[in-house]
Amino acid sequence: MEILRVENLTKTYGEGINMVKALDGVSFSIEKGDFVAIIGPSGSGKSTLLHILGGVDKPTDGKVIMDGSDVYKQDDENLAIFRRRQVGLIYQFYNLIPVLNVIENMTLPVLMDARKVSEDRLNELVSTLGLNGRENHLPNQLSGGQQQRVSIGRALMNAPAVVLADEPTGNLDSKNSQDIIHLLKESNRKYNQTLIIITHDENIALQANRIISIEDGKIIRDEVIRK
Ligand code: ADP
Repeated sequence: MEILRVENLTKTYGEGINMVKALDGVSFSIEKGDFVAIIGPSGSGKSTLLHILGGVDKPTDGKVIMDGSDVYKQDDENLAIFRRRQVGLIYQFYNLIPVLNVIENMTLPVLMDARKVSEDRLNELVSTLGLNGRENHLPNQLSGGQQQRVSIGRALMNAPAVVLADEPTGNLDSKNSQDIIHLLKESNRKYNQTLIIITHDENIALQANRIISIEDGKIIRDEVIRK
């Protein structure tokens, strides 16, 4: 089943001689439960693509269809709901709220959505992520690897259709990187969670089922490496 399709995505920034074409006619389709790596040189448009998939940055042209609905046809209020419910974003620098503890950071998207936190899901995630005993810690009382686990928990709390990760291990040593990738793969497998990761790390890209390579805002290669 198709969970995500993009059609002819284009994104330009600036105007006139300062205009940059960050994405130039990008199209692809992703099946539910797939694990896709996006690779390419710095400045090739990877983060722009991920932000557009996540409802954070609007395309100049083209369509994003997530779970059957046209993301950018929605009004701003529904787009905000889409961001909270349908996608889970994970960044290189975690983006946790410094004054909130582990549990508060993880449950923030659910509370902002005026929904009830599922204690069962929260407990399961805290335990899967190895955060037991750290529930009341603030981000600055945690290691980088632990902070990234919290941001994964926050991304998974709403059981989003797609998890989007932008260099999630870019700030971590190799042991912590492996642990984080293991957790993301585990959620991909256990919850049939669709996972799209931007990475510079070939070892991570090779663990995906499919690798999409981007250069100058265009897809230059799209390979299925395992079924
Ligand atoms: P990558 O993630 O592959 O490093 P980006 O998507 O961040 O690439 O950037 C693609 C291109 O778009 C780059 O040339 C970058 O400078 C430009 N760009 C990205 N964001 C903006 C912005 N907000 N304003 C102007 N140019 C931008």
